Amino acid sequence: MPSATPSITGELALIEHIRRSFPSRHPAVALGIGDDCAILRPPRGHEILVTTDFSLEGRHFRRDLHPAASAGHRCLARGLSDLAAMGANPLAAFLSLAVPSSLLRARQGRLWVEGFLSGIRGLAGQHGTVLAGGDTSESPADLILADIVLVGSAPRGRALRRSTARPGDRIYVTGFLGGAHAELNALLASNRLARIAEHPNHPHFFPQPRLAAGSALVRRRIADAAIDLSDGLSTDLTHVCEASGVRAEIDAAALPLHPLATKLSPDEAMHAALHGGEDYELLFTAPAATRVPRSIAGVPITRIGSIHRASSPKPRITLLDLQGHRLPLSPGGWEHLTTR
Ligand SMILES: [Mg+2]
Repeated sequence: MPSATPSITGELALIEHIRRSFPSRHPAVALGIGDDCAILRPPRGHEILVTTDFSLEGRHFRRDLHPAASAGHRCLARGLSDLAAMGANPLAAFLSLAVPSSLLRARQGRLWVEGFLSGIRGLAGQHGTVLAGGDTSESPADLILADIVLVGSAPRGRALRRSTARPGDRIYVTGFLGGAHAELNALLASNRLARIAEHPNHPHFFPQPRLAAGSALVRRRIADAAIDLSDGLSTDLTHVCEASGVRAEIDAAALPLHPLATKLSPDEAMHAALHGGEDYELLFTAPAATRVPRSIAGVPITRIGSIHRASSPKPRITLLDLQGHRLPLSPGGWEHLTTR
């Protein structure tokens, strides 16, 4: 669809800006931004993994609450976390970005777009990910819409799946749980633009995808199955149980609460850890006989439960609560900003 002249200028300037401001050299990228396609060269003996994620204003971030760099960082973090969940290493990212033309015409708007791109660039740089292509367009509404595609690679046949947990496995998580939920709740309560710079202590604004831990799980042959905690422990573990045809038991007392979650009431903290989304930690299962280290790639590892033969009738997940009662645990992960 042809666009009005000012926005074409804006779009072309935007593409040129993106091309100039992102480094493009990477051993796996034979040809990056600038031709009809990118050309990727995966390492020998590897296979390709691809994941795609929308970041939609109003649903995944809010311009009135999130710093632009946080929105960009979160956009890329979601895709990188999916690669981490399968033990893959990123090769390249592709960004499709639709921006309202009014935004590109105003200095404040251009600053926002630059902040968004800087958030992507910062996290990409930390993980050696190159932006190898994408598309820009004028947004049909007054909303910023981004879609990011991540391409990664893993040794052939070795990528971790959610369908391969086995009865007798133990369940582990990386890092801490509930921090992103706690920080998001504080943000929504303040209802103000957060002035927060990139720092790993902000699990909602700047989540840290566990790529090094994920690829170590593959390299060291530790895990049977894995998933990333994007929708919340109860929901993501249910995915593992359903895909693997097993059930799980979780020990509430073992859950590693994030320091931000421990500031909540005990009930809220438990809710944040079990159902809060977007922690972007990894959950994995490993056979009981496997020696699982206390930390992997500098990230603490905590055993939180065990996998069992599926029972009928359900539940898929049983929670051993702090009082020692066994309760069925239903998936209660969050469903993004608009449903809250
Ligand atoms: Mg995922």
